[in-house]
Amino acid sequence: MRRINLKKANVARADTIRYINRQIVLNFIREKEPISRAEISHETALQRSTVSLIVDELKTRGLIYEIEGESTGGRPPTLLRLHAAASLAIGVDIATAHTTVAVADLAGRVVDRETFDTDPDVRAMFRKVGASVQKFIRVHGNVEGIGVCVPGLVDPETDIALFIPHFKWRNWSLASELHKLTGVPVAIDNDANAAALAELWLGRPEIRDVRDFILVLVEEGLGTGIIFDGQVYQGVAGAAGEFGHMTIGKGAPVACAAGSEECWEAFASERATLARYRQRVGDSEITFIELIEKAFADDEAAKEALLETAYYLGLGISNLTKGLSPEAVILAGDIARAWPLIAGELRSTLATNTICSGLPLAPVFASTLGDDTRLLGALSLVLARKFASGVPA
Ligand SMILES: [Zn+2]
Repeated sequence: MRRINLKKANVARADTIRYINRQIVLNFIREKEPISRAEISHETALQRSTVSLIVDELKTRGLIYEIEGESTGGRPPTLLRLHAAASLAIGVDIATAHTTVAVADLAGRVVDRETFDTDPDVRAMFRKVGASVQKFIRVHGNVEGIGVCVPGLVDPETDIALFIPHFKWRNWSLASELHKLTGVPVAIDNDANAAALAELWLGRPEIRDVRDFILVLVEEGLGTGIIFDGQVYQGVAGAAGEFGHMTIGKGAPVACAAGSEECWEAFASERATLARYRQRVGDSEITFIELIEKAFADDEAAKEALLETAYYLGLGISNLTKGLSPEAVILAGDIARAWPLIAGELRSTLATNTICSGLPLAPVFASTLGDDTRLLGALSLVLARKFASGVPA
C-alpha cells in the first residue's frame, strides 16, 4: 500500500502556495498593466510583503519591469509592466485534421502562424512540424520554448506521446526529437490538459481566482483537463481526465475512439451531434461548424441535434461535479460557439441531475479563448514552465 509522506506533502503544499501566488500576481500584471504593487495587493488580498517578494523575483528574471506613473501631487507611483516582447514561444497544435504552428509573446499574443493538414504518416508529420518550427526560429529568433499539444495521451515523466487514437500512433518521442532538431526546450501535453492550462493563464476573468476547475474539450472526441490547486492534475502516466470514456448509457449514435457505444464521447462529441443530424435529414456532408450555423439560422434538425448533445453534456458534467466538486466547469471546442443555443438545456440537465447529491451547482462557462483554445494551450505549456520554475522563492 502506498503511504503519503506528510513531511513531503507539507513542503509540496508550501511550494504550491508560492506557485499559485506567483500565478495570481503575474496574471494581474498581464491583465491590468501598468499596475502598482499596492493595487495588486488590494485586488488580490495578498499581503503587501508577499506581493513585493514575488514582484522582486519576477523582476530579477526579466519577466516584468518598472515604469514611473503620473504624479497626483506627491512622489510619482512606480508601476509594473509585463516584459512581453522580451522573449517568444512557439506553440504547435496537432489536431486530427489540421496542425497549427504559431509564434507568440509572453502575454499569449500571436505574432505569426501557419496551418497545414495533419499527415497520418508520423514521420512525414514530424518533418512538416520540424520545418515549420525551424522556419519560425530563423525568422523571429529569440524563441525560449516550444509547447506542443496532441489529441492523445502523454506521459508527463518522459514527455512521450503514448497513444494518439485517431492515427493509432504509439510511443512518439516528438518532444525529444524536436528538441534535438532545434536546441530549444520542448514541453508537450494532451490537448485538453493544455487547453485547461490556457484558461488558467490566459482565460476569462471569472476563472482568474478559481484554482480548481474542469475543462471539457469537445471535438471529434471528448477530453477533459482537470486543474487542481492551480496545476494540471495528471495522474499516473498522465492518464487522469479520461472522462470521455466514462459510461453514460447504451446505444450512442456513434462509437468512441475505442469502439464503445456507451461512452460519454460517443454521446456528446462532434461526431455524435453530426450523426444525430444525419438521423433526421438523411445523408449529409456538412461540418460541425456548418451544423452550428444552420442551428442559428433556425434549422430544426440542427437545433434538435445540438440540444440532445447539450443534454448529454449536462449529464456527464453532473457526474464530474459529483465526483470532483470543482469551483467551475468550462466548455471548450467549436461547441462553445453554440453556447447561446445549448446553455439552457445543459444547465437544466445539470441542475436536475445534481439535486440528489445535495451539492451546490458549479457554474458552467463557455471558453472565451475562441478558435485558438488548443493553440493557446500549447503556448501556455511554455508560459507556465517559464513563470513557474526556477524562480528563487
Ligand atoms: Zn470509450
